[in-house]
Amino acid sequence: MINKKSVKDIDVSSKRVLVRCDFNVPLDKETGEITSDKRIVESLKTICYLRDHNAKIVLCSHIGKTGKNISLAPVAKRLSELLNQEVRLLKDIDSEETKNVVYHLAEKEIVLLENTRMTEAEEANDMEFAKKLASFGEIFVNDAFGTAHRAHASTEGVTHFLPSVCGFLIEKEIEALDHGINNPKRPLVAIIGGAKVSSKIGVLTNLLDKVDTLLIGGAMTYTFVKAQGGKIGNSLCEEDKVDVAAEILKKALEKGVRMLLPVDNVVAKEISNDTETKICGVDEIPDGYMGLDIGPKTIELYKGEIEVAGTVVWNGPVGVFEYQNFEKGTREIAKAMADSNAVTIIGGGDSAAAVEKFGLEDRMSHVSTGGGASLEFMEGKKLPGIEALQDK
Ligand code: ADP
Ligand code: MG
Repeated sequence: MINKKSVKDIDVSSKRVLVRCDFNVPLDKETGEITSDKRIVESLKTICYLRDHNAKIVLCSHIGKTGKNISLAPVAKRLSELLNQEVRLLKDIDSEETKNVVYHLAEKEIVLLENTRMTEAEEANDMEFAKKLASFGEIFVNDAFGTAHRAHASTEGVTHFLPSVCGFLIEKEIEALDHGINNPKRPLVAIIGGAKVSSKIGVLTNLLDKVDTLLIGGAMTYTFVKAQGGKIGNSLCEEDKVDVAAEILKKALEKGVRMLLPVDNVVAKEISNDTETKICGVDEIPDGYMGLDIGPKTIELYKGEIEVAGTVVWNGPVGVFEYQNFEKGTREIAKAMADSNAVTIIGGGDSAAAVEKFGLEDRMSHVSTGGGASLEFMEGKKLPGIEALQDK
């Protein structure tokens, strides 16, 4: 359970409410159009609640990286359509006009401040900048789960100046992730894949204390296989993490966690849809070949584990799913999760993209909107943007 106050725990009526949303949406490089409005749609519940309760609403968010100076104009447009109400973009937060507009907002009116990353002060969590942002509200609502793992001016800094609570998206994310990892229906099966052992050491270590079964996939497989003395050909391997991999295997044994590595895999000489592929044992990859997806025996093995699970937590694709040649393992895992009666939770940006690609999003219990934030949560870390909010 989340122990933080939410918008429901405070009176927002006729108050100016500063809402930090996650409007960091992907834009088409050529047309500048929004290619997925998922994050905007996910923010509507909180915004509509505030509107229904007669708040004066001041939205803010970052989009893209500092220095890129991307405008939130397409977001303001899309929001206006979705909310059936004009959402005015306030381009210059230093201007008198912006102050005027914000201080004279009517109840239910909604404005959007321009990209908080137009200045370096945002990521530096500069207190002067945070204070300026805070001056636009009387209450702060953080609903940007995607940046909750960062202590920036608009996520953490502002909480020093305003009473601060969470929105519905943050509440939903934390409840799903917390339930899945800390209070799961057992057996709890975690599938951890992706590109690197190094980026997943934290998750693997934290999950060893929580899960009943750990299934490994993706490129990190080969660092583990190497640690066991197998032949991995040209597969990705982090030589400096072989010892860490051996240590994780040992800990799993000590803790009684069933940690399974793939038994077979799809190998090829290059990552391409035109190249010839072969199936072989995961520890007998010929020279010149790379392991790029889990093989059919592993798919069956892992499906069996998913079938008997009470909860499945998945982070990291089990193959190079961006290529048709190497997507089957990831697709079959996603399908097995969608078909199972288990609570199914997906964290990680690329894993969520894979589930979306296969059209299985609606059949999962929870697909996190925050790649990095969900990963840090799974590592057992505290998220500063959430820690800073008022306790219940
Ligand atoms: P997430 O964003 O879900 O946490 P990661 O960022 O850790 O996942 O990893 C995703 C990437 O891992 C994908 O781009 C995928 O192509 C790559 N990947 C998966 N398996 C392999 C493999 N066997 N070899 C190389 N790359 C792989
Ligand atoms: Mg990723």
